[in-house]
Amino acid sequence: MPSLNIHRNDTVKVLTGADRGKTGRVLRVFPDKSTVLVEHVRVVKKTVSGKQGQNTRGGIAEQESPIDVSNVALVCPNCGPTRVGFKTESDSRVRVCKKCGQTLPTKK
Ligand SMILES: [Zn+2]
Repeated sequence: MPSLNIHRNDTVKVLTGADRGKTGRVLRVFPDKSTVLVEHVRVVKKTVSGKQGQNTRGGIAEQESPIDVSNVALVCPNCGPTRVGFKTESDSRVRVCKKCGQTLPTKK
């Protein structure tokens, strides 16, 4: 099972694309595709059509689309968007900020 540097509930900054510069919370990660779903990032508007004969109304629904993890940077609480390193601490692998060395815990 491949794992990503970015985990669910991380705060990330978007580096490329239309949403460049935005920060958001990671809603889902897709390790097999190396993509993440980020809150309010790459929102696509979908036209929902009402079905004939049913009492449903058409409209516009907004939904996030996954983006590649290489297009986002994890935001360090100390110094902002950063690259992620790893170190072993108490026999477990933890993520650290490559700039300041801050441990980046995975929020549950
Ligand atoms: Zn840092």
